[in-house]
Amino acid sequence: MVGKRPAGRRPRRRRAPHLTRSLSTIRGAALGAALALAGCNQSPAPAGKLLVVTSFYPLYEFARQVAGPSTQVVSLVPPGVEPHDWEPSPQDLTRIRNARLFIYNGAGIEPWVAKLLRDATSSGTVMVRATEGIQLLAGGPSSGTGDHGKGPPDPHVWLDPVLAQSMVETIRAALVKVDAAHMTIYAENARVFAAKLQALHEAFRAGLKDCAGREIVTSHAAFAYLARRYGLMVVPVMGLAPESEPTPAQLASIVRFAREKKVKYIFFETLVGARLAETLAREVGAQTLVFDPIEGVTREEQAAGRGYVALMEANLRNLRIALDCK
Ligand SMILES: [Zn+2]
Repeated sequence: MVGKRPAGRRPRRRRAPHLTRSLSTIRGAALGAALALAGCNQSPAPAGKLLVVTSFYPLYEFARQVAGPSTQVVSLVPPGVEPHDWEPSPQDLTRIRNARLFIYNGAGIEPWVAKLLRDATSSGTVMVRATEGIQLLAGGPSSGTGDHGKGPPDPHVWLDPVLAQSMVETIRAALVKVDAAHMTIYAENARVFAAKLQALHEAFRAGLKDCAGREIVTSHAAFAYLARRYGLMVVPVMGLAPESEPTPAQLASIVRFAREKKVKYIFFETLVGARLAETLAREVGAQTLVFDPIEGVTREEQAAGRGYVALMEANLRNLRIALDCK
């Protein structure tokens, strides 16, 4: 079965045709339309509220925590959608233009931002790369042993609670830049949230200190920053993006690895689906568990108010089960 095309891969969404239209065309032809749109599905900031647009979930969550309730923070990628192959619609681009601040992750996970940056000079929106100043890991050339160094940058910085604090600080500074009048509120909110991230970091450090194993098999290669922080060895089944599926040879080597290391749990993600993990788990006699890269929340999680910190705590609980930690 290992030689067959792996199950569990999400159907690749067709590339949206809208990006082939140039942004300048959109701006020129649709300025009036954009203003009209602002009245319907644009949900503009209520009068007096600062509008902050973010690309996808972790940026949204961090910005919301720092900005507080007097600011309107929106995420372009909706709940339940995984951001790696998402692309903005013309309406999304208009939302960015209407915002005071646009916060994105960088490191290649939003390739559509490059075009936006070239075009942004006249829009007045301040563009902020939340990973600014963070030394990025390079992704490995393929899924496998976590040998970083040659591939494209690994964007999954937010999964390290220490680097997440640096992202929060970048977001705080950006908010102050566009709205200095509320700098003490932003400073206080950032301090409170950074303290939660620091507590999370300490919980991970303590919780993963004394474990029977250090090796985990995950779905896509999202956990390199987290693994480096806590001394884990991650073998991803897929590449840096969830749609990059393993070759039969890679799958066979993952099966060998899992058997050798007596891996008891294969991790899967909520937004990607469990079929490949289940197939692998059957093959090596393991069980499956969720390890969430927190690239988005499901609608249920959103409705229940489960955010980044709660999802990371759940990740830690599952890691402790999989690694048999004391
Ligand atoms: Zn990812």
